[in-house]
Amino acid sequence: MAQGPYYLGIDVGSTASKCVVVDAEGALVGRGLARSGAGTAGPQKAMDQALADAGIAFEDVAASCATGYGRNLMEWATSQMSELSCHAKGAASLFPGVRTVIDIGGQDAKVLSISADGDLENFAMNDKCAAGTGRFLDVMASIFGCEVSDLSGFDEQSEHVATISSTCTVFAESEVISKLSEGQPIPDIVAGIHTSVVERTAGLARRLGVKAPVVMTGGVALNRRLRERLAEKLGCDIATNEDSQLIGALGAALHAREAATR
Ligand code: ADP
Repeated sequence: MAQGPYYLGIDVGSTASKCVVVDAEGALVGRGLARSGAGTAGPQKAMDQALADAGIAFEDVAASCATGYGRNLMEWATSQMSELSCHAKGAASLFPGVRTVIDIGGQDAKVLSISADGDLENFAMNDKCAAGTGRFLDVMASIFGCEVSDLSGFDEQSEHVATISSTCTVFAESEVISKLSEGQPIPDIVAGIHTSVVERTAGLARRLGVKAPVVMTGGVALNRRLRERLAEKLGCDIATNEDSQLIGALGAALHAREAATR
């Protein structure tokens, strides 16, 4: 049974706004997710959902913390914190002992090294280029006229991985369209697209060195086949959770709780 005081974390990402409520013990009791869009309507919707899901009103929130690209827009938040420390904290709370966190979101990809004590030690990040991020996958899904959540299922049916040689999203888009017109099967092209994201992520991860246990966070972690391909490439298991996309918001809520109870 959830017990107050309650703490709220909101992660205003480039693509999606995520909000969670945790109870006095730090357990996740409310979840909300909405497209970010422009302005504050998306984050507000995510927050309303999380509060309703927890069965509480905003007045019941003792402290809050905002993270993500749009965190400065959340003027009502008690505090603000970088995505790096929020993903580290959220992942360490769901997976005690985690040493590497791979976060692929809508606009960037990050690899975090976590110390044995659960603190953020180091990180590597790609925020300069859409290739290797959720945006790349979103663009490709729109070419096939499917949802990004359908890509994993297509890849499962692939027999030969198509080679996507362009490392730029715009050129890769043309390459995919020409492969489609040549009659290459969609599953094989999707497998090639996933392999391209995996290669990029593995490059980023190797810059830091990958220590097990490894956890994947962010929306792209919901793509099961991509996660499996990344695990094969890195040669280790990758754990995740159905709440992967909410882990940054969870970390923010736990920061708010920690600051209020310190
Ligand atoms: P940000 O914080 O930058 O907004 P997120 O961590 O919320 O990013 O991840 C958004 C990305 O996650 C989307 O661009 C999309 O590619 C991917 N994604 C979201 N939902 C799913 C899903 N159900 N299956 C696969 N990928 C998903």
